[in-house]
Amino acid sequence: MARRPQVLFPLFAEVTALPGVGPRLGKLVAKVAGPRVADLLWHLPTGLIDRRFAPKVAQAPSGRIATITVRVEAHLPPRAPRLPYKVRCADDTGILHLVFFHAREDYLRKVLPEGETLVVSGRVEGFGGEVQMVHPDHIAPLADLASLQTVEPVHRLTEGLTLKPLAKAVREALGRAADLDEWLDPEFLRRQGWRSWRAALAAAHAPTDESGLEPTDADRSRLAYDELLANQLALALVRAHQKRQPGRSLRGDGQLRERVAAALPYRLTGSQHRAIEEIAADMAEPSRMLRLLQGDVGSGKTVVALFAMLLAVEAGTQAALMAPTEILVRQHHAVLAPLADAAGLRIGLLTGRDKGKARDAVLAGFASGELAMAVGTHALFQEGVEFRDLGLAVIDEQHRFGVHQRLTLGAKGRDVHMLVMTATPIPRTLMLTAYGDMDVSRLTEKPAGRRPIATRALPLARLDEVVAAVRRAIGDGAKAYWVCPLVEESEVIDLAAADERKAQLETRFGERVGLVHGRMKGAEKDAVMAAFAEGAVDVLVATTVIEVGIDVPQATVMVVEHAERFGLAQLHQLRGRIGRGDAESTCLLLYAQPLGETARARLTILRETDDGFRIAEEDLRLRGAGELLGTRQSGLPAFRLADLAVHGELLAAARDDARLILDRDPELATPRGQALRTLLYLFERDAAVKLLRSG
Ligand code: ADP
Ligand code: MG
Repeated sequence: MARRPQVLFPLFAEVTALPGVGPRLGKLVAKVAGPRVADLLWHLPTGLIDRRFAPKVAQAPSGRIATITVRVEAHLPPRAPRLPYKVRCADDTGILHLVFFHAREDYLRKVLPEGETLVVSGRVEGFGGEVQMVHPDHIAPLADLASLQTVEPVHRLTEGLTLKPLAKAVREALGRAADLDEWLDPEFLRRQGWRSWRAALAAAHAPTDESGLEPTDADRSRLAYDELLANQLALALVRAHQKRQPGRSLRGDGQLRERVAAALPYRLTGSQHRAIEEIAADMAEPSRMLRLLQGDVGSGKTVVALFAMLLAVEAGTQAALMAPTEILVRQHHAVLAPLADAAGLRIGLLTGRDKGKARDAVLAGFASGELAMAVGTHALFQEGVEFRDLGLAVIDEQHRFGVHQRLTLGAKGRDVHMLVMTATPIPRTLMLTAYGDMDVSRLTEKPAGRRPIATRALPLARLDEVVAAVRRAIGDGAKAYWVCPLVEESEVIDLAAADERKAQLETRFGERVGLVHGRMKGAEKDAVMAAFAEGAVDVLVATTVIEVGIDVPQATVMVVEHAERFGLAQLHQLRGRIGRGDAESTCLLLYAQPLGETARARLTILRETDDGFRIAEEDLRLRGAGELLGTRQSGLPAFRLADLAVHGELLAAARDDARLILDRDPELATPRGQALRTLLYLFERDAAVKLLRSG
């Protein structure tokens, strides 16, 4: 069993193990940095205070931080209750008043005894001809002058947490970081001009000027590279492990696929054909497929999945398609069932909502093999779900699922081939961090007959005009989505806003308004969606539950309220719900004024292009990778030190490095390999270490 190296133990203790960090402070530190000592190492300074400037009083310019040596002359308690307490100090060039509001006299007399010579440090201000320092940051004996006259790092804080205790905790954490054996190639290290990990860490925490705060700083780059290398090495290990697993070659005679192709109401695009061929080639190999099918919203991934599933069935196995929401699963089932029917196949449907006899029948069908195909939610992973012989698992909108879930479904069968599909147009750099060198098929063409979507941005003040326009469109037989503001902190507020808007629209459109939101029961949602697709509802008011995958080709209008609150990728996903049929579509993005610069840039990009990949690249540029797609929900790794908008080249280098390392030392058995194991633990890639045979 692999174990975390002992040298890292002190770093993985709780922050409360540090001297001076009690439970109360510990909570605040955990909130701003993280719960463990190591998290403080990654909490790099975001600013600095330069206290090296040590002028005489007469030479201290107003507004600047200065460290000044003065003699305390007299305490001047306030003459009226709301006036400040002053302490007159001086050197041989002039008088400096220290100013305190809400001061406690006994305390001030203790730290500033009259007649004493002391060092004070803080911002100097000119006030009515006087030189002042309001609440000095430091008051210290003369002997401390040298240690005060330095550059102080400033860290990101949270409410209730002040800089001093946090800075002290960071120093303590650094004291616990041992010198670790070098895991980087010495030649590479030399070429980059980088120092050892420990030295780089110390230096990154002690910037001496602004350039030391930049992500491109040598020490920060070294730390970022370490993080990226841990990420890439872990992915490469997972991949190598997967490759070692025996797979099984699945080949079909093409009969089922031919029958379904004949039943399709359209012709497959060139990129759909290509993707299907790539998948078939992978499945024919005696190793396990792990392929990502990436295609913008509306590019037609579902039918590609169907062909892969048919191939698995032709080869005598079963296939399962998993999607993240009930609505999506039902939609997939509704689309796929008639097509499967053309091939004489039935598809079993399984969601958390299915209970009792119906569920038992489906489970029996999977177990006996009578149901060759399955479509379902997470319910497919549950215990008690058995397949006779699962050959292929397809996972739709994969970014909603974690790696763990991906693996669980794979474990439902023997050597299951995996196809994961995502509509998230992940930029190349991010792809690499989430999947490493995973095989990728991309759907680059849109199905024929798609019309571009006219996109307009309007201030919310013009809501009445928008309502009138929607009304006209509906009069002409259109259907419209109306997306309500997203307030991330509270679903309840989202809901209230959506409810209110629905009521308001009903006064204009009558009964033909529906509402769908995240808190609804599955059956209610389905009913509303069905009414929208089939006619009774013309305007569907929604929170972002319509974000993924919903396909109603008759919908040609999309209104998004408070578009400025949505991310670029999210707006693109939303807009992808329209423009699916052959009629002209319109997307109206309503924003509140004043519009910030980034929000304005986002809306402009959306008006200019509907190319998901370009949008994703712009999103990365505008927001930085950390925020992209809301990293937490996206399943993409969040980096503490690396900034993908800046460190793209380092990422590519780390990928090559990881590949080379595993070519030469697949078990990480050499001394450098051992050091790399420590690196993996340092960045909590423990799971990857456990995949090593000699772990
Ligand atoms: P996504 O990639 O977003 O999952 P879907 O698979 O839902 O896209 O497909 C979007 C729509 O395009 C569906 O209505 C589907 O029937 C249709 N479609 C898929 N492939 C083609 C094609 N080659 N030609 C025309 N329409 C297609
Ligand atoms: Mg889809």
